[in-house]
Amino acid sequence: MTGETAELMSHPAAWTRRDLLDLESLSLAELTTILDTACAFKRATDGCRTRLPLLGGKTTANLFFENSTRTRTSFGLAAKRLGADVVDFTASSSSLSKGETFIDTAKNIEAMNVDVMVMRHRTPGAPWLLSQHVRCAVINAGDGTHEHPTQGLLDIMTIREHRGDVRGLTVALVGDIAHSRTARSNIWGLLKLGAHVIVCGPSTLVSRGWEQYGVEVAYSLDSILPRCDVLNLLRIQFERQSTRPFPSVREYALLYAMNAARMARAKKDILIMAPGPINRGVEVTPDVADGPHSVILHQVTNGLAVRMAALWLVCGVKDRTCPPATGVPTGCVVV
Ligand code: ASP
Repeated sequence: MTGETAELMSHPAAWTRRDLLDLESLSLAELTTILDTACAFKRATDGCRTRLPLLGGKTTANLFFENSTRTRTSFGLAAKRLGADVVDFTASSSSLSKGETFIDTAKNIEAMNVDVMVMRHRTPGAPWLLSQHVRCAVINAGDGTHEHPTQGLLDIMTIREHRGDVRGLTVALVGDIAHSRTARSNIWGLLKLGAHVIVCGPSTLVSRGWEQYGVEVAYSLDSILPRCDVLNLLRIQFERQSTRPFPSVREYALLYAMNAARMARAKKDILIMAPGPINRGVEVTPDVADGPHSVILHQVTNGLAVRMAALWLVCGVKDRTCPPATGVPTGCVVV
């Protein structure tokens, strides 16, 4: 047994949650525990390449009520790397189309002795509601515009890997803040770890309301660019918008796309990140997305490590000793 594997044999005392629903309610100790555990998994599996069957005999179910490529594949692969069985559930081909509620569907799946449900849903709070009705662990894989905790964690893990520490860094989230669950999870995680966070985009997509949490609000990428250590370029979530927030995609790209001209004015060691999927030419040009400053594919690899850590940590907790905060999550209030 290697040192890394031994490190993963005992469950960390700081982790007592049966669910991972958001980053907003995590303590600094919990946040650090899951990030450190993800790093240990990455080391112990040769960069997420090899198996480490710590979850042999467990079953995870992917309940995806919204489309997904990276997150679904990543959770499935992470579970398999840990030796768990994986059940895949797709809303469109299920009994939901026959009128069954999602809680009934989930309870039926749980009755097949599932240990963890990984859920994506278009409604904010849906994984929290699920956690109130099932005994197994629940992990939020993105709930509408609310949160995407494992995305926030993998983004932060990638920053830590490249910069050593997040404290003191200036991290800008650029684009559709109003509809981005990735933005919310990043904001809560980065603030707790001591980063200076800027949200930047058109005024129709970036609320001044974020200032009350200590986030800087900016409408001009060019004016903040020279100060940024990290740019996380968010996709415009057209599927969640009822009206067009700007005159044209071309105008948006002119003002906010990261391109060669802007790279020339950025810090020499700036990190370019994107949660994916990326729209080449809209939030980032291909030369920058594929260039030397881009860590976009590192994020995807780290997603595997973070999801192994999340599955392993929630599986190690027998009961919900730490229930999620009640009431409307803050991230849903600021739009
Ligand atoms: N993949 C991320 C999410 O599910 C970001 C995006 O869709 O643009 O929220």
